[in-house]
Amino acid sequence: MYPIIHLLIGIIPAFLFSLISKELAISFLLASILIDLDHIFNYFYYYKGLNFIEIYNFYVYRKKTKRHIGKQIYIFHTIEFLVIATVVIATFNKNIAFGVFWGLLFHTGCDLLEGLIDKIKQNNHHFKPFSIIYYTLKYHPKLQKKPQIPL
Ligand SMILES: [Zn+2]
Repeated sequence: MYPIIHLLIGIIPAFLFSLISKELAISFLLASILIDLDHIFNYFYYYKGLNFIEIYNFYVYRKKTKRHIGKQIYIFHTIEFLVIATVVIATFNKNIAFGVFWGLLFHTGCDLLEGLIDKIKQNNHHFKPFSIIYYTLKYHPKLQKKPQIPL
């Protein structure tokens, strides 16, 4: 989902949170948008480039063509990051931690919904692995079952 769509969708819950606290609303909105920074980390990891226009064009092209480079982990989109970020931030400010928790959860929920819609439309759907543990167990080369060689 494009960042602008996340921003537009996130404005409604952010407005509702602003009725409770401005700090909560801002942390919710920032978390629901900045979570996608992990796409930049992945691009840098695979292509060693940090040209932001090139990165943006790369992801727009991949989204339009539904082409994905294998299974990648998007670290900010994982349940482990959600838990750790919430706990760490809660030690400083519970209001911000609450906003970040719901921002991250809202964003990953929107991504999941987009994947489900793609699957229903039978496009080449793509679900991000939403857990580091799941990703490691399923895709780590050292944990893959090797075919038995008959002796
Ligand atoms: Zn996302």
